Amino acid sequence: MSDALKKTVQEAFNEPGCATNRAKSAEARKKGCAKPLTPGAAAGGCAFDGAMITLQPIVDVAHLVHAPLACGGNSWDNRGSASSGSMLYKTGFTTDLTELDIVMGKGEAKLYAAIREIVETHAPPAVFVYATCVTAMIGDDIAAVCKAATEAFGTPAIPVDVPGYAGSKNLGCKLAGEMMYRHVIGTVEPERVTDCDINIIGDYNLNGELWQIKPLLDRLGIRILGSLSADARYRQVAVMHRARVTMLVCSHALIGLARKMEDSWGIPFFEGSFYGISDTSEALRTMCRMLVERGAPEDLMDRCEALIAEEEAKARAALAPYRPRVEGRRVLLYTGGHKSWSVVSALQELGIEVVGTSVRKATETDKARVIRIMGDETHMYENMAPKDMYATLKAAKADILMSGARSQFVALKARTPWIDVNQEKHEPYAGYMGMVDLVRAIDRSVNNPVWEDVRRPAPWDAPRDAPRPATGLRPAVAPEDPAPGPVNDPKDFEDC
Ligand code: SF4
Repeated sequence: MSDALKKTVQEAFNEPGCATNRAKSAEARKKGCAKPLTPGAAAGGCAFDGAMITLQPIVDVAHLVHAPLACGGNSWDNRGSASSGSMLYKTGFTTDLTELDIVMGKGEAKLYAAIREIVETHAPPAVFVYATCVTAMIGDDIAAVCKAATEAFGTPAIPVDVPGYAGSKNLGCKLAGEMMYRHVIGTVEPERVTDCDINIIGDYNLNGELWQIKPLLDRLGIRILGSLSADARYRQVAVMHRARVTMLVCSHALIGLARKMEDSWGIPFFEGSFYGISDTSEALRTMCRMLVERGAPEDLMDRCEALIAEEEAKARAALAPYRPRVEGRRVLLYTGGHKSWSVVSALQELGIEVVGTSVRKATETDKARVIRIMGDETHMYENMAPKDMYATLKAAKADILMSGARSQFVALKARTPWIDVNQEKHEPYAGYMGMVDLVRAIDRSVNNPVWEDVRRPAPWDAPRDAPRPATGLRPAVAPEDPAPGPVNDPKDFEDC
């Protein structure tokens, strides 16, 4: 690893805005948060992957991966981030280095030519150039190439010097924020500013979640000036330094960026969530209060309370028909970060019992919130191996598993309904109406008649003398559940 990259990583680990980090000794701080990998276990995404998923939702930028072909394929469009305009971010650009390019030292020349081709054919506002393991190891200086290309073509070429071997996906998310701080934020002045301009950091508009929130902000006259990186344009990142307040949605990875923006431009930030009715209201209240403190009109608070009352009433009315169908159901939640607590409180509002929640990648503040919401820490889990997850689903008599896609087969093995709440999900669940959509999805899953059939033992598993229904195919007595078959033991179901 180059000295410059080592220094960047060290600084990212030494984050004074992070409560976990503050609680560590100076020695422990140097080691960072990464856990050593287990040989043979799936490692999750690399740091490059983390940088890519953090920045790729900037929709009008050309994202150019400087690497052999596989890195681009590995990271392309991992999240279902939606765009209200340009679709350039959906085009995968790579320098596609071959062995010959590497041996002959053609990497930098190929990169320069690729930037030129992109500028000439797509005219993007900027080209983001991603370093990867191979190109960093052969010593390609992407910062120098970007500088030369920016001067030659008049379009900013931004180096994202976060090669995969730098560390985990989560570290990559952090360093992506650092790259924006160094090279993009503050480089453009907005045409106008208002006292109600905000930044939203850490939201990625997964399947349009931002659009469940934006109409609420529009009604309050709050403008999303800067975004990293939900439905963002390059310009929106470049002008972030002029916002009045920053809302940090995924507190773990980008807290360093929010803290640096506070230090550099005096923009205060708060951590909030748009999952669940109460948390959405709380986020809106905090945002309005902080804006008023920074000069927004006093009546903003009254208008905010009026909007909250109206939207909460609407959402509760829409939820009423579903409440009896989901009330009392038991959920095992296996997600990460702020969702560890925000989804718990959202479910509890509906009388759904949460039998456990994972606190992977959650900060100490997140964990404290989980304890406050759930009463104690007995239902908090760190990483859970599939066999433990299976055992917990059975022992807790869970009615449903809510997790990322990689755990869905554990749920199926346990004959338990499953809902995707991670980044690959196909439905948006943010804000008041998102909550209604989430409950509708829970109802659809737990009350689906297919589970009655799935849980019924196969005819060949029933004792020969067991009474059979009229069809003669389905025995009435269920044998013991078979033990789970061998499953891989990935320690790290990643999400960010
Ligand atoms: S950057 Fe490195 S670890 Fe990441 S996909 Fe490319 S080769 Fe693999």
